[in-house]
Amino acid sequence: MSNANLHRSTNWRRKQAKLLINDLVVEFTRVTNQQENDTISCTTNAITDFDLYCDSDTNSSASFNRDMESPVALNSEKTKKDDERNDPPSIFPPIVLDDEQSEATIDLIHVATALIALKSRHNLSQRCIDDILSLLVILGINIPSSYKALCTLLRKRSQTHLSPSTHTICPHCENLSQEVCRCTTCGANYLPILPSKIPLFYTYNISKQLKAILSTSPDLVLHNKNAVRKTTMKDITDGNVYINLIEKDMGSIITLTMNVDGIQPNKGSDRSIWPVLLVINEIKRKKRYSPENTIIAGMWPGPSKPSRNEMSLFFKNIVSDLQDLEKGHVFQLYCPEHDYRCELLKVFLISACCDKPAQCLIQCLPEPTAFFGCGNCEIEGISVPTNNHGSIVSFAIYENDQLAYERTNERHDLLLEQQRKNKIQMANFTRYRGRRALIEAHKNTEKGIKGPCMLRILSYFDVGHSFLVDSLHNIYLGLFRRLLSLWLSHQDKDEQWSVYSRINYLSSLLSRIRFPSTTTRYPRSLNKFAKYKGSELRLVLLFGHSIFEKILKDEYYSHFLLLVLAIHYAESRCLTRDMVDIVGKLCNTFLYEFPKLYTTRQNVQVVHSISHLSETLRKFGPLSTYSTFNFENRLGVLTRSSKGTRRHATEMMNNLMYLRDACFESMKPDMNKVLHKLISPWLHMTNSYSNATKYSVRTLHPLNTSDQAISSIFPGEIVYYSTAFIDQVRFTTYDYARNKVADDSSIIFTTGSEENFGRIRCIFSINDAEPMFYVDVVSNMTAFTCRTTTDVYSYSNIQTGLSSDNTNSILISAKDIIEKCVFYERSDKICTFYRFPNLEECS
Ligand SMILES: [Zn+2]
Ligand SMILES: [Zn+2]
Repeated sequence: MSNANLHRSTNWRRKQAKLLINDLVVEFTRVTNQQENDTISCTTNAITDFDLYCDSDTNSSASFNRDMESPVALNSEKTKKDDERNDPPSIFPPIVLDDEQSEATIDLIHVATALIALKSRHNLSQRCIDDILSLLVILGINIPSSYKALCTLLRKRSQTHLSPSTHTICPHCENLSQEVCRCTTCGANYLPILPSKIPLFYTYNISKQLKAILSTSPDLVLHNKNAVRKTTMKDITDGNVYINLIEKDMGSIITLTMNVDGIQPNKGSDRSIWPVLLVINEIKRKKRYSPENTIIAGMWPGPSKPSRNEMSLFFKNIVSDLQDLEKGHVFQLYCPEHDYRCELLKVFLISACCDKPAQCLIQCLPEPTAFFGCGNCEIEGISVPTNNHGSIVSFAIYENDQLAYERTNERHDLLLEQQRKNKIQMANFTRYRGRRALIEAHKNTEKGIKGPCMLRILSYFDVGHSFLVDSLHNIYLGLFRRLLSLWLSHQDKDEQWSVYSRINYLSSLLSRIRFPSTTTRYPRSLNKFAKYKGSELRLVLLFGHSIFEKILKDEYYSHFLLLVLAIHYAESRCLTRDMVDIVGKLCNTFLYEFPKLYTTRQNVQVVHSISHLSETLRKFGPLSTYSTFNFENRLGVLTRSSKGTRRHATEMMNNLMYLRDACFESMKPDMNKVLHKLISPWLHMTNSYSNATKYSVRTLHPLNTSDQAISSIFPGEIVYYSTAFIDQVRFTTYDYARNKVADDSSIIFTTGSEENFGRIRCIFSINDAEPMFYVDVVSNMTAFTCRTTTDVYSYSNIQTGLSSDNTNSILISAKDIIEKCVFYERSDKICTFYRFPNLEECS
């Protein structure tokens, strides 16, 4: 074929493809229009900007109630009219893969699922998916040509795809209205006030989402009274609050954790979006926060942060939904053996993990930085002058202080009663003199309370301790960033705690710390500390603290170590009640010393917040199981999924719904296994349990070296490798890792009953047998220690020793390896190994 011919032919094909796309669009629009005619108008264009008047959920369940069958099987049983309604692009021929693993054919719905998964995985725009579709069409695959059409397909099949209820807040009577343009309470029309000036929000039916999750999740574990009480706490269900609830013996229960957090849809945007998310504590930790198991209760779309009054109206429906669930509903539970299993479950909200501004709105308390701003106790705080003639509220505590009351339901009710009495007294107080003093006195008796907390009417939610100390906001982004700023900011450079002049040296030390490849984000240079994400701050606190040794003054460094140990314990994967007590002591000592070392002025609310850490641990178990890190990951996926420049909230909600539809779809038995394997990671739903029983070791990259010690011991053919995989986990030799960012050579392994730290020197196999590991160990290691005025605490998960030239090496097999760890070698060859307190991935 000549070049010109080829050219013409490509053009011709393009034209044909274009015609085909046009045909499909026409056909598709015809079908969708037809099917929407009998409900209210909902054209293809409005599908992603969901139609406020069209409840697609009831629509789809009315015409489509069996979701376990493939569309093909279903169509044959349906009438012709139904056929047209439910199978828009009927031209798609099922694809049969030439594979032994799965005979299931790939239908259009599966392609739609895959593309939506792909969109989520790579944060693709809708136009990108449209382009991929056009490409597929040219390649001869008959497929609808728009992302919106794919969404419709998925939505029609889904039983969980909900449309939100929209509410507005009437500017005339300040009540809720179910309509967008007028008030359903007072009847007033909003015009001529512009719609953009009317506060509007969305809420979703919680119980419908619970139904969908419970009927599909294989990871639900219900707890009952007879379970043995464990000595260690591994999850929120091991905490005292949960155990007390179980012991009430109310039958089967489900508990929820709530997250409310303001997020910016994109960088530099001043828009603030507030999703309310719920997770089910009885779903196994690894799957608890996956998209298919997250409940979205509501969405405040902004543009600005809700006021206290708006927040309470926003929560009105959510709370009444939650109250209804407390009475108990019959839920169908996932059951692999039987067709269905139904159980009566009572559902309780027991905890909330929010950032501080959201928390004080929900609690109806003052800003966290104001007097009585602590959400967990009634500490007043004192006003301290700042350098620039301002003032700041300090929450410093001293050893002989009388403790402030914890905030609890009982105190909340008492304070509200007090507030009521104060109001009456004020109303009867007519004199001018003494009025100010009375206002002051009243403020002191009300302890900052502004009104009732909207979650107070729930049965097992405590308006004090159910608000958890959150590792992300309170500890890493709060306290630890504050500490770094004291040490490293230019502003404090003349203070006695400053190490500002050493920041470049500290950065070079930080870069010597070797993190394994499973760490998602290595900390950037300390010059950028102000821009650190929560996960970077976490790594520097847990594993980077050693770089400050001998650079911070001794008293500051040993004070810092109290925090390091407290957080290692708090993040521990199995927390004992003794450890919780120690965390309490460490935090108290840290707080008593803090104003002495850094002055009262620096003892702001974020510093104070760790005084409630041990109570949160005692009542709700280890930090990592409820930390907002989990939610932030979730929200990160959501935030990045929003590509548009307007209507972010709507776009995010739609993306979450379709992502969840795709997750449910991919779990159905008619999903082709090969395709399932491909798209599961895209949906962030890799099954962490699947490989647990299989144990495999494989080696990679043979090396052209030999080790004197090994070849002198073993006869036979020895092959050396740089890399080995044990199951899915990668290990390398330290030589291999030397010039790389990630270092998978530092490990914890067992010899007999002992656990040791070491670094992999060689990976080799003899005569093709199972590979062996030759591991360098440092002799005479000492454990991490820190001291309070009365006690010394030693922690064996961090150990330091001198690596000499004649190091000991030990021969071990893959089965002896426990896990990877963090390694830091100073220029004087003193090394420290750090074990991860838990292996949960944090953003
Ligand atoms: Zn009104
Ligand atoms: Zn407090």
